[in-house]
Amino acid sequence: MNKQLFMDNFTDLNTMGLTKEECIEHCLEKEKTRDFSQYYKGYLVGMSTGTSGNRGIEFATKIEALLMQLLVFFRFPFPKTRRIHIAFILRVFSPGFSRDGRKIKVSYVNPLDTIPAIVENLHSLNPNIISGPPSVLQVLAKEKQRGKLKLFPLLLVSYGEVLDFNVKEEIENIFECSVVEAYKSSESFIALPCKSGNLHINEDTVFVEVLDRDNQPVQAGEPGYVVVTDFVKYGTPIIRYRLNDLITVSPDPCPCGSNFRVIQQVHGRADDVIYGRSESKDEFQFILPDFVRRSIVSSSAYIEEYNAIQTSPTGLTINLQLNPELEELPEKEEIVQTIERSIQENISSVFKGHDSIIPKLDFTYTKISHDFDTKLRRIKRTFK
Ligand SMILES: [Zn+2]
Repeated sequence: MNKQLFMDNFTDLNTMGLTKEECIEHCLEKEKTRDFSQYYKGYLVGMSTGTSGNRGIEFATKIEALLMQLLVFFRFPFPKTRRIHIAFILRVFSPGFSRDGRKIKVSYVNPLDTIPAIVENLHSLNPNIISGPPSVLQVLAKEKQRGKLKLFPLLLVSYGEVLDFNVKEEIENIFECSVVEAYKSSESFIALPCKSGNLHINEDTVFVEVLDRDNQPVQAGEPGYVVVTDFVKYGTPIIRYRLNDLITVSPDPCPCGSNFRVIQQVHGRADDVIYGRSESKDEFQFILPDFVRRSIVSSSAYIEEYNAIQTSPTGLTINLQLNPELEELPEKEEIVQTIERSIQENISSVFKGHDSIIPKLDFTYTKISHDFDTKLRRIKRTFK
């Protein structure tokens, strides 16, 4: 099963007798009124983010939602404190996760508000855990650095987008607390962090297979596609459902003592994997986006934001947003040249290391902004 098949056959797959059309209509209505607190016929129905042709329906029965809640509340390594108050920065939320208990309170913050409104909302909530996509956490870190955000959370939780190694470091340094990852698809809750900060597959509620392009299992330590079978969901059964995500499962056990497998890295969408053209054979070489990410980030401290778009097997466009202070410097041109040379060298050695033809790089310099309505993807591929 994959998303396309799932969406095309949603009405047949839904064992509660709901049709795809009525679920979509309900979601569109919710978005219009911005009232996300309503159940639909007693079920949780939401729509995942994505481009319009690519949106998925999230469907859960009340029992499924309750089990998910219990899973999070009992497994999550909450900091030792009197009362936990988590703020979820979520675009679409559902009534299933609202809670205001003696020990745990859960609040929601709309990421589509303006940054000052998000900051004000967080101040009035005063949560001790903030959970959101890393692109939002990064913006909050900048607000904290500027003295606008005056919160001292005990823990930050990242989900929904790839957590780049340098972004994790930056956020942790500014907030002076750990960032842990949670991993959820719109269909299933796949992995939660442990007290050692590692991301464990919820092996008791999902069965995760990591497969190659020919649907053969890969070794631990090797990247592969995620294929999920969910033991909890019966409203819309999830059986050998292939996600468009690539992960690497760690070959090593976790010091926390749990035997549930650890996800070493979530690489992001399989569509965004870079392909080099082999120099010695007539084939394409698979290059993980993280190599390109590191090639760019490690080139200069003047790089504030970036993205890279692979337009062909031998063409890569690199968009850079440099520190504005650079404009004032007399040696600006030289520095820019050094940055380009350094990125070129790093990318060349990555492609060479993958037996691939070195791509031609095109650099552009621009202000890079991110719309919180879509998932942030710094590395993209535009050819099939
Ligand atoms: Zn662990």
